This record gives sequence, C-alpha cells and structure tokens, in this order.
Amino acid sequence: MQNPNNTLWIKSPLATLDPACAGGVVVRGNTIVELVAKGNTPGHQIDDTFDAGEHVLLPGLINAHHHFYQTLTRAHPVALNKELFSWLTSLYPVWAKLQPEMVEVSTQIALSELLLSGCTTANDHHYLFPQGLEQAIDIQVEQSRKLGVRVHLTRGSMSLGKDQGGLPPQSTVQTEEVILADSERLIERYHDHADGAMVRVALAPCSPFSVSGELMKASAELAEKHDVQLHTHLAETHDETEFCQRMFGMRPVDYLESVGWLNRRTWLAHGIHFNEEEIARLGKAGVGISHCPSSNMLLASGMCPTLALEAAGCPVGIGVDGSASNDASNMILEVRQALLLQRLRYGAKKITHQKVLDWATQGSAACLGRGDIGEIAVGKQADLALFRLDDIQFAGAGDPLAALVLCGAQRADRVMVAGQWRVSGGAIQGLDIEALKARQRELAAQLR
Ligand SMILES: [Zn+2]
Repeated sequence: MQNPNNTLWIKSPLATLDPACAGGVVVRGNTIVELVAKGNTPGHQIDDTFDAGEHVLLPGLINAHHHFYQTLTRAHPVALNKELFSWLTSLYPVWAKLQPEMVEVSTQIALSELLLSGCTTANDHHYLFPQGLEQAIDIQVEQSRKLGVRVHLTRGSMSLGKDQGGLPPQSTVQTEEVILADSERLIERYHDHADGAMVRVALAPCSPFSVSGELMKASAELAEKHDVQLHTHLAETHDETEFCQRMFGMRPVDYLESVGWLNRRTWLAHGIHFNEEEIARLGKAGVGISHCPSSNMLLASGMCPTLALEAAGCPVGIGVDGSASNDASNMILEVRQALLLQRLRYGAKKITHQKVLDWATQGSAACLGRGDIGEIAVGKQADLALFRLDDIQFAGAGDPLAALVLCGAQRADRVMVAGQWRVSGGAIQGLDIEALKARQRELAAQLR
C-alpha cells in the first residue's frame, strides 16, 4: 500500500492527454497536488518516485453505464443474433434465477475487468431483485470496497410486468412501495455526498417499457429530496419509441419530461433515436448521455448523435453497457469502439482519439455529476491509468497516445484509485483472479 502521508511523483510519462502534466504528477493522500511541466522537477518535497517513461498516463477511465450481473450471461445461447426486445425477453427468465453469490462473483468479475482496462470509477445499473436477492446493492457495495474501485451504484427497478402491459415477466418486478422504500434505505445507508466519495447511489427505473409513469415520478421526487441522481435507458430502439407512443401516447423525451426527469440530475444510457427538437430540449436541460457503442452495434440499435447532443449542452460519456450485449467490460476497448462508430457519423476530423478519451473521462464524470474526478488537475482525486505499449499490437506504432486507442489497447499496466495502486504489473493487488474466473464459470453454467 502507498503510505498516505508520502508524496509520490509519477515522473515524466511517455505521453499524456494533457500537456500540462508532461513532466508528471505529484500525488499525496488521495489527491493530485501538483502537475509538473515537461523537463521540470516538482516543487513539493518528494518521498517516492515512479518512473513513467514507458507509460501513457491518463485520468482513470469512468464507465457511465453497465449491468455487472450480465457478465454471467455473455454470449448466452438463447440471446444470440437478436435485437433488443427479443434479446430481453429471451434473457429475462434466465436472469430471474440470479442468486446472491452470482451477484457477488459477477460484480467482482466486472469490476476486475474494468480495473484492468484502466477504469477507476464504475456505474452499475442493477434492476433485478427476484425473491431472495433483495440485498443485491448491498453485496455490490461490499465487493467494490474490497477491490477499491469508486462506484456509482444505481438502485434499478422494474414495476411494469407483462400483466400490466410491460415487457418483463411478473416474477422479476416489484411493487412501487417496496422499490421506493428500498431506494431510500440504500441512499441513507451508502450514498456519500462528499468530494472524493467512493460510493454514491442513484435511482434508476429500468426503462419506459418496464416501469410505470408513477414510479418514474416518485423516483424523481425521492432523488430531489436526497439530492441524488437519476438514470435510465432511453431512446435505444425504434421499438421503444413505438411502445411509448402506444402505451403513453407520446415519444420517449416527451414521456421523460412528463414524469419530471428533464433536468441536470438525469443521465441516460444510449440516447439514440432523438429528433432535432428533442436534442435541443435535452441539451437545454443538461441531461447527460452515456454512449454505449458496442452494445448499440451488437443489438443493431443505431448510432447516438453524440456531437449534436454535446453542441446542444448535454454532457456525453462512455459506457460499456451490460456484458450480455457487449460482451466485454473493457473501458479502453470501448473508447476505440466509440471512435470507430462515431467516425462513421461525423468523420475523422471531428472524432479524434483525444475526443473519445475526453468522453471516457471528463464526459463520463459530468454524466455522473462529479467535479472531483475525470481530469488530471491539482485538487482532483488521484485516479490514474497508466498503459505500456509493449504488447504485439503496438509494435511499430508512432504517436503513443493515438496508438493506445487505434491499436486496440486492452489492459492497463498500473491503475491508481484515490491515491492507492490497485493494479500493478497488469494484475490486481491481492486478488486470486484464476479462482474468481473458475467460480464465475461454474455459476454461469447454472444459468444455461
Ligand atoms: Zn443497459
């Protein structure tokens, strides 16, 4: 463990996203205390030095949308080659069998995969609480603490079962009273409002086709009362637009507004099928969008209008989405996916490697409503990802920062969260990853 009273200079990285720290960064406790200009030495007295001459240094990547439990159903046979609604209805009965140990192990797997890919803060959207799994979020908090990853856990929910005209089977939905009481319990127990928070809680009714308008409204009121954020899936597919028109008599953004969600407290996963007028309204309201390129391509959902949303005023971040529709949980690979997909829409000049890295750091931080992470700057949290470029895919690469994205980096060499090294030499400190993978394989087999 890094001594919290010591001052550490991460010295002269090979490349950085921000030239202001070309000579490195100085970390004390959980905070960045100095940026060192190229060729300079720190003004602070230094206790320890880490020579980063062979590392590309980034702010820790921030994952703005995920479903950790889905790592158990990657490439699940029932869900192959389907689009969202038929993919979901194939998987709901499988997910209804989730057990507490499955949440524990899949959370460890997802957080480990994220950490190893340079991610220091992760959102999770857990919305399945079948009988016996009422403590799912409590389990996730415990696992995130063990691994030392910063988390934004959302208390997801589904209240609109098939019997009420929704998509999910009745066994996977809860009553609104139960959902709201548990949401309040989790906020009071775990949500930390302070700068440097390691755990925050947000409220996340799953989607327009799995919750009622009443629950959306009540969640917005509860979020306001406790000053926490709101999250949901929106405008992911044309099927969803048709569902909203049939069920509520309006398009998804109108529905969002009607239930009191069009404000800065809200960030949305996907955000694909908006018209120009809707983009302007979302931007004016400051609603954040987590772009999930792999999932959107895999489920053939469409392409998020990222630059138009950003120009309108929406923060844009990046999420890997659940591992049943990615099917990886790798943040640095997702950055590459965003670059490739968004170039098809906006061209190569506008979608640069710096741009997509900004989305995965500052953009995701803004989606999560945080000003203390996502950037290498004095006073910000010491959340850092350092990548070496010695794997075969980098052999012959020129620009080191561009190579990280273009050549397909997969794994960080070192990752620091809140001033503590959690990954070094490409491995998570204190974790028996082989045993973890073996248990995950056994549990996943029970879901097939
Ligand atoms: Zn999702």
